[in-house]
Amino acid sequence: MKLPNNQTMSTTLRAWKETLEDLGVIGLVRQPLPEVKATGSSDSLSLLPMPPPYKPSAPPRAPSKVKEAKIAIDWKAPDDPIKNPPFDAIVACESLDALNACICKCEACPLGGGRIKFVFGEGAPTARMMFVGEGPGRDEDIMGRPFVGRAGALLDKMIAAMGMGRDEVYIANVVKCRPPDNRTPTSSESQTCLRYLYRQIELINPSVLVGLGATPLRELLGDATGITKIRGAWRTVVIADREIPFMPTFHPAYVLRQYTKEVRQAVWEDLQSALARSQL
Ligand code: SF4
Repeated sequence: MKLPNNQTMSTTLRAWKETLEDLGVIGLVRQPLPEVKATGSSDSLSLLPMPPPYKPSAPPRAPSKVKEAKIAIDWKAPDDPIKNPPFDAIVACESLDALNACICKCEACPLGGGRIKFVFGEGAPTARMMFVGEGPGRDEDIMGRPFVGRAGALLDKMIAAMGMGRDEVYIANVVKCRPPDNRTPTSSESQTCLRYLYRQIELINPSVLVGLGATPLRELLGDATGITKIRGAWRTVVIADREIPFMPTFHPAYVLRQYTKEVRQAVWEDLQSALARSQL
């Protein structure tokens, strides 16, 4: 039987196949996931192939002391509750919209004064999978949306390869304003902004977090181990007394720079593991 949209369908399938191959997936034979009963029991986690056990790493590397010290000396956080929302106001927000409205004028760290647009994050408010990147870049600063440049296009491909759309996951960053010259946010900037991300995660309540690159790993877990050493190994973030599985993987911008089959396949394996765990 001929499909009415035969041409469109074959084009879509071809694009999907190319995306998978782009991510290093050879062929279209899907490896079946282990059958899991939706009991919600922690026993069900043991049915997944477990990553190598996490070994405590060396103490976090001191983040760029000279720059950080200079920025800290030159900076004084404002007393204005609009520009520096107090903790009570943040935890009182009962929805993502309320949180966005509460913090969107924030200038609590030096990054606020240099932004074009505040980048809150976007996606499904009850997403099971939440991606956390480092911070907005130039395109994101202009658009006010996370991951909209080249790295964002690759992230979209990865999400599509998992059979989802951007509106079925949630995407946010450690900091919500663009660091100048796309530098890495300092730990003091990140820690100032993390109170917003924590509340965002509480409200979304995802099943898994996927950390993109080294900064979420460093700031959410205090682990400065290189992402190449630790990617693919499940970790746990505790937010509001809830333990949330955290999968560290490469940032899409790194994948674009190191466009090797090994890197793409590593990311694909990490995402497959995160997808399986998010469905438990
Ligand atoms: S990066 Fe975060 S803490 Fe700093 S000004 Fe922007 S919203 Fe506020």
